[in-house]
Amino acid sequence: MTTAASLEQTFARDGPFSRALPGFEARPGQVQMAQIVERGILEGVHTIVEAGTGVGKSLAYLVPAVRSGKKVVLSTGTIALQEQLVEKDIPLVRSALDVPLRVTLLKGRNHYLCKQKFERARADRLVASSRTMQRLWGWAGGTRTGDRAELPFVPNGDEWEQLDADADDCVGEFCAHFRDCFFFKKRDEAKYADIVVVNHALFFLDLAMGGGLLPPYDVAVLDEAHQCERWATDALTATLSRATLGRMMRKMRRAYDLPAEFDARFDEGVRALESALARVPGDRYPLAANDAAWPALDELRDALYHLENWLFANWHGALRVKPENDAEAERRRDLTLRTVVAHSAAIERAGAPSDAAIAWVERSESDGRYTIRCAPHEVAEFLRSTLFAHTPSVVLTSATIAPFSFLRRTLGLDEAQELVAPSPFDFERQARLFVAPASLNPKSADFASRAAPLVEECLDRSHGRAFVLFTSYARLREVYALVRERVAFPVRLQGELPRAQLLEWFRRTPNAVLFATATFWEGIDVVGDALSCVIIDRLPFPAPTDPLVMARLRALEERGVDGFEHYMIPAATVRLKQGFGRLIRSTTDRGVVALLDGRAASTRYGATILNALPPARRIAHLDELAAFFGE
Ligand code: SF4
Repeated sequence: MTTAASLEQTFARDGPFSRALPGFEARPGQVQMAQIVERGILEGVHTIVEAGTGVGKSLAYLVPAVRSGKKVVLSTGTIALQEQLVEKDIPLVRSALDVPLRVTLLKGRNHYLCKQKFERARADRLVASSRTMQRLWGWAGGTRTGDRAELPFVPNGDEWEQLDADADDCVGEFCAHFRDCFFFKKRDEAKYADIVVVNHALFFLDLAMGGGLLPPYDVAVLDEAHQCERWATDALTATLSRATLGRMMRKMRRAYDLPAEFDARFDEGVRALESALARVPGDRYPLAANDAAWPALDELRDALYHLENWLFANWHGALRVKPENDAEAERRRDLTLRTVVAHSAAIERAGAPSDAAIAWVERSESDGRYTIRCAPHEVAEFLRSTLFAHTPSVVLTSATIAPFSFLRRTLGLDEAQELVAPSPFDFERQARLFVAPASLNPKSADFASRAAPLVEECLDRSHGRAFVLFTSYARLREVYALVRERVAFPVRLQGELPRAQLLEWFRRTPNAVLFATATFWEGIDVVGDALSCVIIDRLPFPAPTDPLVMARLRALEERGVDGFEHYMIPAATVRLKQGFGRLIRSTTDRGVVALLDGRAASTRYGATILNALPPARRIAHLDELAAFFGE
């Protein structure tokens, strides 16, 4: 699969990419990045590259990965990037380099249909339980991939769960469909693929489980690497909530005839727990701050032990479906026991404070329900030992990962070669940066009323065509209430439509304005003048009251490291660069970023963060935008 041409020749104006893609033009940063990635793969060292917007980073890692002939796992944070890789970039590399290339897109197990569950559901009842289930059955009877992405509608979680290939319901080789199981066939295909494309959730779960989900690989390419700390933490997080207990009970009931007393006991236990958790105000707080939760957690733990003992004593006689053989029945028992034990273990972990882990409570903004989570507050040691010590070459890249020292410390990456591949865009010409006067402080009570006129003026100058981004829903609603009557352009608010439809509305509606929060900070691509203004309410520091952030800061302080300097500032920088990155997506895009946080203009840390942004020209007054937008 290797080719003799140099990387310069491959990306040259008369090279294979120019022939495969009319109008293709390699950028210097792209070739530099390809060279350093290739060196990393060949010499077996890790590589970090910040590739500014427009560098074309995916081709810059795909080409050396393909040329190496090694087994590559390529992981991304968002579905949008995954689709772009599989549908556009990888086929382009295949045709430009003219190489046979086996590529598999592998998803988590619960994306696939379980044939055994489907067969048993149909045997159980002649008629589907709902219209959605009827449509699911219709699809399940004819699908060739079993991938739920084929569905033209989104089933709700409870209904899909009755048919998915979740590990806790799967008896593996004891299943009659094992040989033609959608999930296992896909996993086998991945064994023989040159490139396996996955998402970060699956990638880090595989590491957390000690392997088994992904085939062995020589090279890991982690795109959107600024999200790695979050996904690695997620993979190590134990969760306890009404939803997880409900799922556990549904799994139990699918397999066994359970006495009704268990439902009543768990219902009561969850109700008591939720009312205890509600006694402490706040959407996220350390579990240690709520002593009242413990009697309810103890009661739930007792109920779980009772269930475990009952299952142990009755598993054979209570089976709902006659198993193929004893081995299948025993596997089923072990799987269900595992789910029950995992819940008991989550309670044990939450109740055993340690220097390395923290338990906290989260209240959902959408339904007000509570979840208890327990996780290590640092993932550096875990990644050092499971990823960096075992994989010969790991490539970490993103448009926003500098400063590298922050990424290396949080991920436990001790040695790596580094490159910043600059964006080919002319930010000095294409972009303007406005920072609100120093007196405008997002912490002050009158912030919304003082920020609203600036928002209005920005929107007037840019003729709408704007994202107005907030770090919290509360602030979003406050400012929106003040400006909505005064904005002369079509306006929508995050939540009024599903995210994809909202984006579609924005792209199609002239002069549209979208008020939104975190989910629109990244992974959004609006090319052209539909997006010409990004207004950001404040420097996006992680919330210092968040229990996980507090634990991380404490751990740094204990090691003598200044947490604000070495965690809060770099985290805010990466985040702000993501928000900024929504604006300029091509060489012809033009636009303004308005940062409404006056601290950026008046503090040393503000200067550090602004210096890390793309070099847009600073403007002191919004009326300078008249000339910029050609009024
Ligand atoms: S092998 Fe597991 S996931 Fe596949 S059909 Fe059988 S039970 Fe379902």
